Amino acid sequence: MPAPAGFATAMAGVPEGADIELDLRLEAVMEGVLATGTATADSVGECARCLDPITEPLEAGFQELFRYPSDDDFRAADDVDAEDEDEDYYLEGDSLDLEPVVRDAVVLALPLSPLCRDDCPGLCVECGVKLAEAGPEHGHGDSVDPRWEALRDLGEEPGDR
Ligand SMILES: [Zn+2]
Ligand SMILES: [Zn+2]
Repeated sequence: MPAPAGFATAMAGVPEGADIELDLRLEAVMEGVLATGTATADSVGECARCLDPITEPLEAGFQELFRYPSDDDFRAADDVDAEDEDEDYYLEGDSLDLEPVVRDAVVLALPLSPLCRDDCPGLCVECGVKLAEAGPEHGHGDSVDPRWEALRDLGEEPGDR
């Protein structure tokens, strides 16, 4: 299925229209239809440190029960908390709307703080150059505006010296 809009967090997401592969199994159970599956897609994000674009394969498993609509009366009588309302999915005739289920699974599986690599050194706090490309020798000497000096200290990782 093509990805609808909104399959994203602040740092990463599945672009609208990108391919999402669904491996889906439907099972008829007492209360309705149990949908179990895995969504596979490429998530696109930005490295949290150096802002490089990252594409990462993502796999999100889900399992959700789609209740028969007739279940509604039963539920009302059962005095179910109204707050549970959005947790329940219902069959619409013969079809079920998988989109919200897949979206929740995909968004949960997205990395909150993606990195292009585990030890990404990030950007130089003074000139913004990528430290991975500039190399370990990159520096600006001691003649630095004192206002930036403080920032540089903050940006340095322990053990860098
Ligand atoms: Zn990076
Ligand atoms: Zn620099």
